[in-house]
Amino acid sequence: MSNITDLSLNELVDNVKSKKISSKEITNAYVERSKKSNKLNTYIEQTFDSAIKNSEKFDKSPNLEKKLPGIPFAVKDLFCTKGIKTTASSKILENFIPTYESTITQNLWDAGAILLGKLNCDEFAMGSSNETSYFGNVISPISDNLVPGGSSGGSASALAAKLTPATIGTDTGGSIRQPASFTGTVGLKPTYGSCSRYGIVAFASSLDQAGPMTRNVKDCSLLLEVMSSFDHKDSTSVDFKRPNYCLDLNKNIKGKKIGIPKEYRVDGMPKEIDKLWEKGKEYLKDCGAEIVDISLPHTNYALPTYYIVAPAEASSNLARYDGVKYGLRADGENLIDMYEKTRSQGFGEEVKRRIMIGTYVLSSGYYDAYYLKAQKVRKLIKNDFDDVFKKVDAILTPSTPSSAFKVGEKSNDPVSMYLNDIFTVPVNLAGLPGISIPAGLDKNNYPLGLQIIGKPFDEQNILNIAYSMEEKINFKLNIKDWWIK
Ligand code: GLN
Repeated sequence: MSNITDLSLNELVDNVKSKKISSKEITNAYVERSKKSNKLNTYIEQTFDSAIKNSEKFDKSPNLEKKLPGIPFAVKDLFCTKGIKTTASSKILENFIPTYESTITQNLWDAGAILLGKLNCDEFAMGSSNETSYFGNVISPISDNLVPGGSSGGSASALAAKLTPATIGTDTGGSIRQPASFTGTVGLKPTYGSCSRYGIVAFASSLDQAGPMTRNVKDCSLLLEVMSSFDHKDSTSVDFKRPNYCLDLNKNIKGKKIGIPKEYRVDGMPKEIDKLWEKGKEYLKDCGAEIVDISLPHTNYALPTYYIVAPAEASSNLARYDGVKYGLRADGENLIDMYEKTRSQGFGEEVKRRIMIGTYVLSSGYYDAYYLKAQKVRKLIKNDFDDVFKKVDAILTPSTPSSAFKVGEKSNDPVSMYLNDIFTVPVNLAGLPGISIPAGLDKNNYPLGLQIIGKPFDEQNILNIAYSMEEKINFKLNIKDWWIK
């Protein structure tokens, strides 16, 4: 048999169910590999000993009906884990130990999964390169000077380096799909309301969604099946009949109409991205789908709208970190001084920038000009999608305007960093599902992704399209273990 860590999530599940591999063997294999991965800086907290113990416990009385029977998982450190440090990669939460479990991680454990550890991310999920983390930047296993993308950079890097068979991330403006695209992996942002936000450290509540990050589309479907649930603890959770995404996965997309939005052909986009998009269309036609030119006229306003709405919500969400209720408290001469010192010492530069922008756009006198206007434009962006979805079943775009960049290349230029989100942000603003799948390589052999956007709650459809394309694309990326020490 091939190496355990080379097997896909579905293969591992099948092997456990047919009693060919034990949970302990799998957990051991991932722990051993993870222990050698310090160079990548993916882990913030390792729970290897308890993982091994839990795998032994599972093997003693294995419940093989479970969807993730005894499968180890490392998860983004934005998900609260009861009794286990949860930092959101921020100094202000450096010693925060939640007394409750996020619904998403609870769903994983209920399905039989075992926690391997907590993964690095951008501070409070703000970033596109995993360079804003208080715990240092994450390196992509693809090359020693490459970012893995962000904010779920630790998740993407750990997944690509095979430190975890699959993982979970959160996506507020692209943080699952962009790192997936940078690392040659699959990442899905579900429809807003599909996956519970309960117990996820909040960034921008009207945009945040958790989603699966996996090595292939079938694994993505399985993990979504486990993650997606109605949750009365999240007032924005939607109660709808969730399909068996993995069981119902199929490649029959004959006659599906796929829209190609002309506004996504942005100035200065590398030729190879354009070529990849063209190839994507060909693959779809080969699968029997029909390509339809469409227009999403307000696309240009998505990025400025996002960078008003997201910081506004962030500034409000992050007001709770005041040195009283959670995490760090700095000494101060009086209450106000304590607040100021705690927040100025506890937050990093990017987080402070967002709090300042957010506070500004919400302040009296500027609220109408910025925040209210942004909300109106957000509705127009949503209307664009509603209109085209009367004509097409899904939309195909590139996932990102470039391949992964080098560490430090954009960290001093926030606007160029924000431009990374140009193709992913509209999907969050409209609350739609979007999946990024690896689709090709650039001239440096760095992965490039294509994004499929679907109608609300039509995850099955975009998974099916991705599944058919995956077969045609036959993406192969040989990541060397240069980072193993
Ligand atoms: N890169 C975007 C930002 O910094 C998106 C982050 C995210 O999706 N969490 O806001």
